[in-house]
Amino acid sequence: MTYDVHIIGGGMAGSEAAWQLARRGLRVRLSEMRGGGDSTPAHQGTGLAELVCSNSFRSDDHEKNAVGLLHQEMRELDSLLMSAAAKAQVPAGSALAVDRDVFSAEVEAALAAQPTLTVVRERIDRLPEAGLTIVATGPLTAATLASSIGAATGADSLAFFDAIAPIVYHDTVNMDVCWMASRWDKGETRDYINCPMNREQYLAFHAGLLGGEKTEFREWEANTPYFDGCMPIEVMAERGIDTLRFGPMKPVGLDNPHDATPEFPKGRWPYAVVQLRQDNKLGTLWNMVGFQTKLKHAEQVRLFRTIPGLENAEFARLGGLHRNTFLNSPELLDRQLRLKSAPHIRFAGQITGCEGYVESGAVGLLAGLMTAAQLGGRDWTPPPRTTALGALLSHITGDAEADSYQPMNVNFGLFPPVDPSVKKKQRKEAYTARAKADLAEWLPLA
Ligand SMILES: Cc1cc2nc3c(=O)[nH]c(=O)nc-3n(C[C@H](O)[C@H](O)[C@H](O)COP(=O)(O)OP(=O)(O)OC[C@H]3O[C@@H](n4cnc5c(N)ncnc54)[C@H](O)[C@@H]3O)c2cc1C
Repeated sequence: MTYDVHIIGGGMAGSEAAWQLARRGLRVRLSEMRGGGDSTPAHQGTGLAELVCSNSFRSDDHEKNAVGLLHQEMRELDSLLMSAAAKAQVPAGSALAVDRDVFSAEVEAALAAQPTLTVVRERIDRLPEAGLTIVATGPLTAATLASSIGAATGADSLAFFDAIAPIVYHDTVNMDVCWMASRWDKGETRDYINCPMNREQYLAFHAGLLGGEKTEFREWEANTPYFDGCMPIEVMAERGIDTLRFGPMKPVGLDNPHDATPEFPKGRWPYAVVQLRQDNKLGTLWNMVGFQTKLKHAEQVRLFRTIPGLENAEFARLGGLHRNTFLNSPELLDRQLRLKSAPHIRFAGQITGCEGYVESGAVGLLAGLMTAAQLGGRDWTPPPRTTALGALLSHITGDAEADSYQPMNVNFGLFPPVDPSVKKKQRKEAYTARAKADLAEWLPLA
């Protein structure tokens, strides 16, 4: 059968995109290398939409949680992943967890029942030169295809290792302690938030890094060298007591105005500083510069809250390090996930720089809708940015800063802020209520 769309990769994103297209009667070829003699270092079987690690889609609370809201929005769009999850659900409190084998089998059966869809167990080694294509090969994209993607996008724009620094919600930073300045007080713009440390605080923090509980490398990650730009802070700390003070925590030139005296009207340099850099255009999310880490998540929260100014910090994302092939999407993709330099190719799933099963599925769903509209000769209206789908899509396709782009889970920091007069305790409900109203208006355009 000839086909309208070629989807490469039958994971979360590829399966969802295939479903959205096939249920609209479009002819799809879905190429999945597992089952054809290949695999990835993390997948165990040959089933479509295999969950490689946890069996949870995280919170299902669509009143107060951004990922729960994303579930709900996907359900409104007849998501295959969400209907399969409902059939495969296992008890997990307010989380949506599944039996992974039942889940994968449900996805596979639903796709097999689509008369216009063909699943082919084959590895694709090159980006196709023509024909509408969705590349959804995930964080563990086969090496041959990854180098073809690298050649098409420029090697610098394709990351192979994911060094994640934590991200803090701006409204949880104590600006009575911190202050804004340029990176090392050079240049005109005061783009960085500085959290000052005295000697005692620095030494205690250093000891905390050395003693903190770390996540072990998986066997297949163990031999992957650190790139210069992504050495974990605890590894830097092991290299010497002052390595961090001469690296990401360098205080040089950073007069702390909170320490101003008549003798030093601009303030004094602290012993060390932790700098935060804006991570999204809205200014709601701030990245801890150079703080990629393999400390366990609970340990990160405990230790990072000892940093002056971050005592009450809430984290949109915690640090981590693992193999991950993803594009610098804000730079390379247009607002409809198409490669600017080769618009017949769309990317979907984690390779676009979203993070997580649900987010990958959601971006696959959007890629399916966009491609269906394109094939139908319709202009496609994206979901409003106030919805979880819209916020995630906007982040990937241009709202995130391209220079520091790193994989991101859905979270309320990606949404335009709600009215600041809404009490803090009621903000989450305000985000979700607004999203639901706006999604309902948009659905007829989907
Ligand atoms: C080790 C690891 C653990 C993770 N744990 C979690 C977790 O617990 N929770 C969570 O929410 N997220 C987790 N993630 C992140 C991520 O959300 C998942 O990897 C998710 O499955 C990504 O969905 P995807 O569709 O983009 O890619 P995948 O689900 O990985 O699907 C990509 C598919 O493409 C196929 N493929 C690759 N290259 C080719 C090729 N050249 N030709 C044909 N087929 C190809 C692969 O076999 C695979 O089936 C984890 C990631 C990794 C790497």
